[in-house]
Amino acid sequence: VQLIKDTDGRVTSIVMRKPFDMHHHVRDGEMLKVIAPMLARRFAGGIIMPNTSPPIVTAKQVGDYRKRLLDETGEDFTPLMTMYLTDTLDCDEVMEASKLHDMFGVKYYPRGLTTNSDSGVADPASLWTPGTRPYEVLQTLSRIRRTLLLHAADGFDRTGKELNPYEQEPHFIRETLPRIKDAHPHLKISVEHLSTIEGADYMQSNGDAFLGCSLTSQHLLLDTRDLHRGGFNAHRSWFPIIQGEEHKERLLALAKKGLPFVWLGTDSAPHPVSDKEAACCKGGVMMVHAGIELYAEAFDKAGALANLEDFASKNGPNFYGVQQSNDTITLRRQSWTVLENFSLPVADGADPRSGVVRPFRLGEQVEWQLAA
Ligand SMILES: [Zn+2]
Repeated sequence: VQLIKDTDGRVTSIVMRKPFDMHHHVRDGEMLKVIAPMLARRFAGGIIMPNTSPPIVTAKQVGDYRKRLLDETGEDFTPLMTMYLTDTLDCDEVMEASKLHDMFGVKYYPRGLTTNSDSGVADPASLWTPGTRPYEVLQTLSRIRRTLLLHAADGFDRTGKELNPYEQEPHFIRETLPRIKDAHPHLKISVEHLSTIEGADYMQSNGDAFLGCSLTSQHLLLDTRDLHRGGFNAHRSWFPIIQGEEHKERLLALAKKGLPFVWLGTDSAPHPVSDKEAACCKGGVMMVHAGIELYAEAFDKAGALANLEDFASKNGPNFYGVQQSNDTITLRRQSWTVLENFSLPVADGADPRSGVVRPFRLGEQVEWQLAA
């Protein structure tokens, strides 16, 4: 990494290895075509999430989805494909996909707790209970050295009582993650989009070559005040939900150290405006248009720009066992305004807002800019 400073010692630009985005929803169809070029411009590769509709559960689907993406990004992009852990995911499909199609991991979704999670695992106990299909898949992943990616949230406590949404991640970290680790000691695990103090403390004490986590820029930059100021802001709504300021500060403290088991994952997750400005707003927002720039903002705020390259460009690929990029990008301290919505074709008679995708910070400034 190279930090270029002005005469006052302030960093004005950063030249760094091209980063990897270890958590991305490229979606499919017309949306994928909008997303893919922005993704490949900023990132050398990344983890491609499998919660399309229908979800990615066969080797053939993995290969076809990978091809549809590469058709849009070009071959320089390195997609790390994933599969969706259901109660019936087949171990043979997992092995086949990993052999043939650059499949790097299987994603766990607790059923019903996030976008397209209806096919998710019904009972988290099946992750550590021999004889269940999810357990067998985790055993297979251990054997073939692929990663289990966790949406680290529990919907219910052990007595079956529904949890407060702010407690979903802490409960998972306390009650569920240790059981998975005990049952599968050689399994590589990535806790996705860490969002709480409890999660950060656990990672700080337990992170290693088998356990890491991704962090989003939104969880490093926003807290509940930004979500609720003057009313509920649907375009700042994610899963896991944005927590209080003390959580944001703790996550930033974890990110800025450059620890090898902590890496970048934007969780860019675009929805049409018709699904955001709705009676029940879907979680997830498009972040890809400023996918690396917003992290520069967060690391700058934390006085840790020197560690941005480890976090963004080295730690993720190292954990997953892929080559770091030899290309570089340049980020400049130059604010710009997010000017426009993105458009998709609208079916005849459909809600026109189903063809509009609103990017994060529309009409607002981003402090860092990616040089062309
Ligand atoms: Zn996600």
